[in-house]
Amino acid sequence: MTYRLWHRQFLAYLQYEYSGLLSLKTCIPSLLGKSCKNVISLSIIPSSSRKVLFFIGGKYRTSVVSWDVLCIRALHYGLAIWLKSKEIKEKGKKMSIEVSHDTDFGARKGAPITTRRGFLKGAFATAGVAATVGAIGLAPVGLSGCSSQGSKIANTGNGATAGTFTATAEGYGGEITATLVVDNLELVSVDVVGDLETEGIGGRAVSLLPQRMLAHNTADVDAISGATVTSMAVINAAKAALSEGGVKLEARDVSVTQNMTPGTYQGEAYGKWKAGTVEGTRFFSPADIQPTRVEVTVDQNSIVSVEVLDTSETPGFFEPCIERIPAAVVDQQSLTVDAVTGCTMTTGAILSGVQQCLEQAGADLRGFVEPTEHVGGNEEITVDLAIVGSGGSGTMAALTALEGGKTVAIIEKCGKIGGLSACASSFLCVGSDLQIEAEQIYDIDEQYNYQMNFAHWKTNGPLVRNVLESSAGVVNKLSSLYQQTDCEGFEGVNIGRPCVRQRKGTDKIQALYDTFIIPQGGQLMLETAAESLIVEDGVVCGVNAVRQDTTTVTVHAKAVHVATGGFGGNKSMLKEICGSSNFYLNGVSRNTGDGIQMCREVGGHLDPEIIPEFSEYCGNDKIDIFSGYLKYLNQPGFLAVNPAGERFINEQMFMSSILENAGPALASVGYAYLVFTQGDVDAMVKDGILGVLSDENLHRLTLNEQQYSRVNHPGYPTLNEELENAINHNQAWKADTLAGLGDAIGLDSAVFGKTIEEYLASIASGQDVRQGKDPAMLHSLSDGPFYALRITPTIFGTLDGIKVSGNCQALDDEGRIIKGLYCGGQDSGGYFVSPYYSDAAGHSCGYAWISGYIAAKHFLENA
Ligand SMILES: Cc1cc2nc3c(=O)[nH]c(=O)nc-3n(C[C@H](O)[C@H](O)[C@H](O)COP(=O)(O)OP(=O)(O)OC[C@H]3O[C@@H](n4cnc5c(N)ncnc54)[C@H](O)[C@@H]3O)c2cc1C
Repeated sequence: MTYRLWHRQFLAYLQYEYSGLLSLKTCIPSLLGKSCKNVISLSIIPSSSRKVLFFIGGKYRTSVVSWDVLCIRALHYGLAIWLKSKEIKEKGKKMSIEVSHDTDFGARKGAPITTRRGFLKGAFATAGVAATVGAIGLAPVGLSGCSSQGSKIANTGNGATAGTFTATAEGYGGEITATLVVDNLELVSVDVVGDLETEGIGGRAVSLLPQRMLAHNTADVDAISGATVTSMAVINAAKAALSEGGVKLEARDVSVTQNMTPGTYQGEAYGKWKAGTVEGTRFFSPADIQPTRVEVTVDQNSIVSVEVLDTSETPGFFEPCIERIPAAVVDQQSLTVDAVTGCTMTTGAILSGVQQCLEQAGADLRGFVEPTEHVGGNEEITVDLAIVGSGGSGTMAALTALEGGKTVAIIEKCGKIGGLSACASSFLCVGSDLQIEAEQIYDIDEQYNYQMNFAHWKTNGPLVRNVLESSAGVVNKLSSLYQQTDCEGFEGVNIGRPCVRQRKGTDKIQALYDTFIIPQGGQLMLETAAESLIVEDGVVCGVNAVRQDTTTVTVHAKAVHVATGGFGGNKSMLKEICGSSNFYLNGVSRNTGDGIQMCREVGGHLDPEIIPEFSEYCGNDKIDIFSGYLKYLNQPGFLAVNPAGERFINEQMFMSSILENAGPALASVGYAYLVFTQGDVDAMVKDGILGVLSDENLHRLTLNEQQYSRVNHPGYPTLNEELENAINHNQAWKADTLAGLGDAIGLDSAVFGKTIEEYLASIASGQDVRQGKDPAMLHSLSDGPFYALRITPTIFGTLDGIKVSGNCQALDDEGRIIKGLYCGGQDSGGYFVSPYYSDAAGHSCGYAWISGYIAAKHFLENA
């Protein structure tokens, strides 16, 4: 079946429909248009469930793009996309869709989309333009979201043929400016400035997209893999600059002759962990972080070999990068090969090192910037249980089903296993052997009553009970499995809390795959993103997925366990479901709610109790204050005011109960300003920061010698330097007076003045009249200079998803079981309500693993 899509200028329409929807800002494929004949509905559902219909059809010139490619592109942007016609969807058939493009559409004129790659290029470029218009609500047509200026030197009547053209667009970290010099419709140079983009990710787009533009004499190029946001900004700025000048370049391949100095070169770059940071040690990177070093051998024309010599990147992340990236660079003769999904920073470190080597060799980088060509293809497999997501829930489901003699396939979006589950340490448990040996005795009835009462019985009683009753068996089972591997899975128990402690990092989960799941025939499909569920006769019986190389994978199964880890990485879903998107994510950005969306598409009911999972520390949604020490500044109990300038919380809760109290309070006001003095900063630098310092969240104490040394770690920015950086980015402010501080932030002086007056009175009397804070935390505000730091909540991800039965079977809106469909971990709802349980230890991680066991056990008993 073939449909014709008619692409016209649709910016006005997008602006009207989409303004404010973040994910859609960057994602509308250009092949969708409003005005059409032969109307067929095409639904685009943003990850936030808001449904908007597009109409497709038309009778223009056509070229062919497959339905798969459309889906891949939509998936890439976090969208679910399908044809409205049920008939077509249920058959799950691949289709060809004929795409036409509007010959009047500005810069794309004369660049027909005839190939798959060409299509993607077009989709990307136009989507970005729409994004800008929608975001700032400017005029509906054209490139008006970018500001531009230029000097036309020659004009043919249709537009300029030469000149220098500049425009800016909003990148990931801030403004990006592109300046293009054109002579006789030839791109002579492209300079892009975007100093605030993330080094190794966005920074690569800033440096390499100009080369790609020059290589093809167009600004209409593919994004750099792994750096979509920055890429779109660079492309938009460049296109806006040309458009404003009326320049219509003709895209063509520019011939490049290399004349490198043959030899072997070395380059190095940091990836996830920067020089001096000790954060990586928590995930088994070395304490002394070194850059990733690569060695590249070239001859005159080509890259002969690439080798990674050394890396301090996180175990679990660097292995797939080392395996794939150097080989891809040599095969494709490109330093813009596809990033390993979920390992973008490590990929970026390797590729930045390679780039340095090529530069040393005198390479013309225009010859080494082609994107990966995707080959596509189709694969089908049949197993008993299809599992989506290789985190705790998916892994435990796989282990359990395999032990029961069933075949399984685990579909994993990233190039590595483990998801959020690789980060967790505490693991809820009641009555495991480890706990009994440590004389930590808990009672299931007591724990059940505590949890149900804490949640005001809004959780799913049978599910909570089943989780608690299954917990000891799961931990005992995992302990015995770990003992058969080289990896110590569990490290001990928590004293006074119903949980055991497990080793952080991917290796413990990897050990389970290497020793049990793979040898027992489990099929692990990495870099394969599940897209939709297959339903036949009302029973879920498989998964449609797409591999990173665009191969479509169909997994037929008797049942499916969906466990994609919630939607902490999906801003529009966060906004829609949790009411705000200005969180700092200290979790996995690839967890974008895919599983929840897939289940909703087949009728799954969204639990109303979905909540963000808060971390102990504060963050900032505009700049990274999390990698340094600013994240601890919520802990000492400094004065905190909401955006209106009022106190809204007893600030000591930032230290004593952030997960269940301060986190939700901060989320409810959106963000807050912490107010403190230079004296506080000096004291913190000298004596450390008072706060929660252990990963286990058990000890609340002043920094000891060792931790104090972290504040002054050589090579690492000091607290003062971090503050200065935040001030430069308008996320912190400094003033000689408190009134001046309020003015600098932009607070209402009357409201903030009253807050300060009352707070100073509390300090003077030693009694916090408004919030009852411990007087020890009424830090003096008598001497300036004064600081304010803007903080937003930090989250690990989200909790709760599709409502499930006591056996983790997905339920529909009527509370009926959806046959063949299980949900686990953070995709499943019924175990949590807001706030997080106040015995705050391991509920989310424990629930993830245990829910996988419960689902697979039920499947085995009923298969
Ligand atoms: C830093 C940190 C510390 C934490 N500490 C604790 C702690 O001490 N105690 C505790 O209880 N909890 C903790 N948590 C939370 C806990 O780790 C998670 O809630 C839990 O592990 C989630 O497990 P899951 O199986 O639901 O999801 P995950 O482990 O995230 O697994 C989901 C998997 O699905 C994959 N996926 C996503 N989309 C798709 C798709 N379309 N197709 C295929 N695969 C897909 C993801 O790539 C991922 O691998 C912490 C989290 C973080 C970030």
